[in-house]
Amino acid sequence: MTPETPVANHFIRTLIREDRAAGRHGGQVVTRFPPEPNGYLHLGHAKSICLNFGMAGENGGQCNLRFDDTNPTKEDIEYVEAIKADVRWLGFEWAALRHASDYFEVFYLCGEKLIRKGLAYVCDLSAEQVREYRGTLTQPGRNSPWRDRSVEENLELFRRMRAGEFADGSRTLRARIDMRSPNINLRDPALYRIRKVPHQNTGDAWCIYPMYDYAHCISDAVEGITHSLCTLEFEDHRPLYDWCLDQLDVMGDASLTEPLRAQGLDMQASRPRQTEFARGNLDYTVMSKRKLISLVQEGMVDGWDDPRMPTLIGARRRGFPAAAIRAFWERMGYSKQVATIEFSVLEGVVREELDGSAARRMAVLDPIKLVLSNLPESHEELLNFANHPKNEDFGSRQVPFSRELWIERDDFMEVPAKGFHRLVPGGEVRLRGAGIVRCDEVIKDADGRIVELRGSLDLESRPGMPGADRKIKGTIHWVSAGHALAAEVRLYDRLFDVPDPDDDTDGKTYRDHLNPDSKRVVQAWLEPSLAGTEPEQRFQFERLGFFVADRRDHSAGHPVFNRIVTLRDSYARGR
Ligand code: ATP
Ligand code: MG
Repeated sequence: MTPETPVANHFIRTLIREDRAAGRHGGQVVTRFPPEPNGYLHLGHAKSICLNFGMAGENGGQCNLRFDDTNPTKEDIEYVEAIKADVRWLGFEWAALRHASDYFEVFYLCGEKLIRKGLAYVCDLSAEQVREYRGTLTQPGRNSPWRDRSVEENLELFRRMRAGEFADGSRTLRARIDMRSPNINLRDPALYRIRKVPHQNTGDAWCIYPMYDYAHCISDAVEGITHSLCTLEFEDHRPLYDWCLDQLDVMGDASLTEPLRAQGLDMQASRPRQTEFARGNLDYTVMSKRKLISLVQEGMVDGWDDPRMPTLIGARRRGFPAAAIRAFWERMGYSKQVATIEFSVLEGVVREELDGSAARRMAVLDPIKLVLSNLPESHEELLNFANHPKNEDFGSRQVPFSRELWIERDDFMEVPAKGFHRLVPGGEVRLRGAGIVRCDEVIKDADGRIVELRGSLDLESRPGMPGADRKIKGTIHWVSAGHALAAEVRLYDRLFDVPDPDDDTDGKTYRDHLNPDSKRVVQAWLEPSLAGTEPEQRFQFERLGFFVADRRDHSAGHPVFNRIVTLRDSYARGR
């Protein structure tokens, strides 16, 4: 079983299989991922991406990438490009790249059609009045005084709205449904508003922009979407989605789709069906775009791709493999149950993936020198190390070994704690792949700080010697000091220090919960075989964790590695 083998027969997978078996939608599966280009994608979006592309992929269907660009004030071309790159990085390729703005003319014609059917009207109420007329969950709304305008008057006003004759906010086009509906979304929802702002895709061509619910269902219909998969907050909007499609019959009305034909866009008939699933939430992070934008803009992180960010570009830079993110959401499954998943679960999947795919290397992050006094000054040899303990395909490499080594400071304890099985004064430990060393002498500076250890290597315990298998409790890693490669290593931890930074019931917000130790930079020593590392190459540094060469800052002249995850979960219960 590969990590991505489907593990759960979740309800959407079942529903789509049943639809195919019953020949619904002509047996086709067409989905879309519809981001709003108003920020970078995050790990939650990946849940939706994996579902939409995954369901299309496993059913021989297709998935479109559609930019839901109906709100020009918050959108930016930078986000459009970043979203495309992120989706591709996750391992998916869209069948068609579309924009809701490709359909602006169709939306407009649909507006006229609703007016002609007496199902839409131009309303002059202000935003505040609209709110007042809408009623509440317990009180029905009231009809707008503009609700009974004639078709002719509505058509004329709607055309003049489009022509730019009215000020922003002065009029809206509203559906004429039912102000007394128990579902507030059906109380004459706005379909169009006036916004005299340029749009990143259509420039100055439009000054009226469609509302999300209206634009989304029509976009789905003209793209031939069969399964419109979205998150739970749209459940109450589904009656409006269905109302619009039923009233408009977009694909059955050639006059509506004429502009698309003129644009050369490919279309197929479908009656999309909306199905909702619960959003993916992770603890120790925030995922709303608004909050992520504030972290970036206020300098609380080093940009969108900061390795501590839950953005996909941040996860990528952190070194999370795309395959692990896909496997994670597949395993978590899809349901209508809202839950927050522990970040450690994602890290566990990352570890599992990297355990199989990352070559092993040795590195020392917090060095102390160990001198093997019984070796000659000039001693130098190459030892052979397997690159992966469980997979011979990774091959092997030569690691230089000499009289002076770097070892981790915390692999030595002058006054050993109970159960400490590494180096202690007078004690022995195995140097990984090189033999057993005894610590003979501890050298300190004037302040009493340990600056060097002197030891002797048991020559009988060296590889190939009769005593090589002598039992000894601890094994530590090392790097030959004279051959080591200096590197900057960035040690990342959770960006927030509480599981639910979104919780502001105690008067504190996510800003008050930034973890001050979420980034630590150390100067480390690496074995020289890491010299040719390319950006984004991943390794396990033995005993320390998984590391990736930073995709932005790493170079041969200045190696920079990020810690992806430690080898064990330090957040597990009972820490
Ligand atoms: P945010 O709340 O972070 O701003 P959004 O829903 O406004 O996100 P969109 O760009 O509209 O962001 O999202 C594109 C698609 O991704 C939508 O279909 C949305 O339902 C889905 N999506 C967003 N966040 C999540 C999540 N946490 N889990 C699953 N799907 C998500
Ligand atoms: Mg949204």
